[in-house]
Amino acid sequence: MYFLGQPEDVGILAIFLAMLFIFYFSLRDGIRGGLIPSGIAIVYYLYIIKTRSYVGSELESSIIATIVLGILYTALSTTIGGLRQKLDRLIENESDEKVRLQTIIDQLPVGVIISNRNGIVTNGNKKLSDLLGKSIRPGMKAGVDTLPLTQADEKPHKKEESPLYQSLVTKKPVTGKEFKISRPDKTHSYVQISATPIKNVQGKIIAAASILTDITERKEVELRKDDFVNMASHELKTPLTSMKLYLEILGKQVIQQKNPKSIRLIEHIHYQTERLQDIVRDLLDVSRIKTGKLTFSLEDFSIDEVVRETIDAVQQTTKNTIIYKEKQRNHIVHADRFRIYQVLTNLLTNASKYSPDPTPIYVTLKKSQGKIQISIKDLGIGVAKSHHKKIFERLYQVTDLKEKTFPGLGIGLYISKEIIRRHKGKIWVESERGKGSTFYFTLPVKK
Ligand code: ADP
Repeated sequence: MYFLGQPEDVGILAIFLAMLFIFYFSLRDGIRGGLIPSGIAIVYYLYIIKTRSYVGSELESSIIATIVLGILYTALSTTIGGLRQKLDRLIENESDEKVRLQTIIDQLPVGVIISNRNGIVTNGNKKLSDLLGKSIRPGMKAGVDTLPLTQADEKPHKKEESPLYQSLVTKKPVTGKEFKISRPDKTHSYVQISATPIKNVQGKIIAAASILTDITERKEVELRKDDFVNMASHELKTPLTSMKLYLEILGKQVIQQKNPKSIRLIEHIHYQTERLQDIVRDLLDVSRIKTGKLTFSLEDFSIDEVVRETIDAVQQTTKNTIIYKEKQRNHIVHADRFRIYQVLTNLLTNASKYSPDPTPIYVTLKKSQGKIQISIKDLGIGVAKSHHKKIFERLYQVTDLKEKTFPGLGIGLYISKEIIRRHKGKIWVESERGKGSTFYFTLPVKK
């Protein structure tokens, strides 16, 4: 290394310094940033060669060294500068993508929250802030911290019930749950929230997105309807009770007169009045369930006895023969006797109602795994699998244009489900369209 001065160390130091400059400027400004110090260094080397007036082999090796260093510096500038430029482009692309995503979600008519896989908010949109009455910033914890929610039935909202949280934990989409939002300015609205986990190409969860749809208008109409039904059923209850009382007095007089035609008429009126009372009671029960006021009076009783009583009562009103198969006798349960009677009556009358031909209805009772299981099997029209869950929802009825319509309000199974749920039991159906249905429910046995 002749040309960089004497002693040789000074030359090595100069190369090192040049490389440091090239490294720094190409990292800072990209390829061009690195090429400028490279150029300056090469010009400097040429200047040195010229001033030292090398000749022969000295000149030759100095020129070769300058060319090699020129190639090295250019390679260094293009590699480091190129990397820097690539990184810039990546960052730019990512921010472009973010802006694009944010612009799209800001246009949506629904509230959107996007969180990372730990449930920390990364994006929210304007509609979300409007719905919640406060702004949601990246970094907040999605779910409890950000959302002033209660469930639509006014129960306080727990973290575990947040659809976003659930979708991250279960790794599955959560569909349409209803919540009430109480805003800081004391106004409120209702929303339906769905959430879904977002996976990368390897199938790993990297984020989750939640959609909040404003359902305040529909909910308020629904609440007004509920209020009306509640009021109307309360108003109907009192005159109906008096009517039944007068009817019983009238019935006694008619029996004394021994007029068979009048007796039959009175019996019909009595039966219809009782049906009307059942409907009013069911409507009131629905209101009670919605307001959390369905109460139970628990006692120990023999479930076989109640099953038998219910069968006797329902048998008088149906053309279908009810066949009771019990596996063992005298099972004691700790439950609300009247409410269990209500569930059994509902399932048995449904079995009869949805069996247009006089086919038999089978009732079985068995004990297994610390539970009493009762099943009611009919050979009627059956329920398609797609309706199995929904028939237990409020006001849900299977409608089929070809089918003849059956009377009813679609609340019997909803009430039954709530009663069984509150007794820590389960209720479900096994059925196929056209092949009859079997409804099951379980109750814990008294320990
Ligand atoms: P309702 O019978 O008054 O309509 P329910 O809540 O008791 O209301 O039942 C809900 C729906 O479930 C019914 O409308 C009917 O479509 C279906 N369903 C209930 N029980 C049966 C049954 N045993 N067989 C076939 N369908 C049934």
